Amino acid sequence: MNEVRIFAPASIANISCGFDVLGMCLDNVGDEMVIRKSNKKGIQITKIIGQKLPLETSKNVAGVAGLALLDDLGETHGFEIEIYKKIKAGSGIGSSAASSAGAVAGINFLLGNPYTNKELIRFAMEGERLASGTAHADNVAPVLLGGFTLVRDCSTLDIIKLNTPLEIAASVIHPQIEVKTSDARALLKQKVPLKKAITQWGNLGALVSGLYEEDYELISRSLEDVIVEPIRSILIPEFDALKKGCKEAGALGSGISGSGPSVFALSKGIFTAHKVADTMKTIYQKTGIEFDTHVSTLNYEGIKILEYK
Ligand code: ADP
Repeated sequence: MNEVRIFAPASIANISCGFDVLGMCLDNVGDEMVIRKSNKKGIQITKIIGQKLPLETSKNVAGVAGLALLDDLGETHGFEIEIYKKIKAGSGIGSSAASSAGAVAGINFLLGNPYTNKELIRFAMEGERLASGTAHADNVAPVLLGGFTLVRDCSTLDIIKLNTPLEIAASVIHPQIEVKTSDARALLKQKVPLKKAITQWGNLGALVSGLYEEDYELISRSLEDVIVEPIRSILIPEFDALKKGCKEAGALGSGISGSGPSVFALSKGIFTAHKVADTMKTIYQKTGIEFDTHVSTLNYEGIKILEYK
């Protein structure tokens, strides 16, 4: 095998009460990448279509993540990467994670899978370090493992793939405004009152239980974030109207995707998810702010191999 074409999906991190630990993988929103063996050692990003992003290996998350894998293997191989970008960078639905995870998954495949997908997470995290300054796994874990994931401990890569109920579907609105991850982080308080912490871990535990029991009402009651969302939502115009509208349209719950500006809602069934997305559109059409919306079922397998030769 010399070349592989892959689908590198978008993802939603945090998921309300799961700040910095939960993530989930989307199915029909994502980039495509072509990864090919080359005689030139290292990684060359030869093409980026769809967005202006650096071609320089050390400045592109795909290059950095790929090199982390090659360094670990002590490989003398070289690879070329083409990125067909559909996920807008900075949207909050894991644009950098798709490229980081896609690069390592494609290279691993062409080398005959020396690593498991779980082992690839630590290389993909190096791409996230370049994008945001911290090597976090809450987007790359669902992209590499599929479904819902929980990062129990990032440093030891104690990461669990959770049960993903079949009928869960996501609606996402991406307002075209800039929310810098660093600004969204700076707003956060370093101390949490005990009462709020109790509510949050009650919700997180119940959400995980709801996913395993496939209890949609429990999932709905648990999709509540009393710590981060009340602070960060001030950065997103019409956030309260979106939240109310999504619930009225039948969503189980909603929240900020990653560090924003995208807002996601989860629903039982794709039909409801489309209705929720229509409500999101109606609310945003009145603001004059440009936006994209996405509706997706969940992706149970993560990165998909589309073809190889
Ligand atoms: P998102 O949450 O959508 O991934 P981030 O802000 O975490 O957005 O990451 C985007 C940052 O990473 C931007 O500064 C962008 O220039 C940089 N970047 C470098 N390479 C890539 C890539 N291949 N795909 C997306 N972003 C990239």
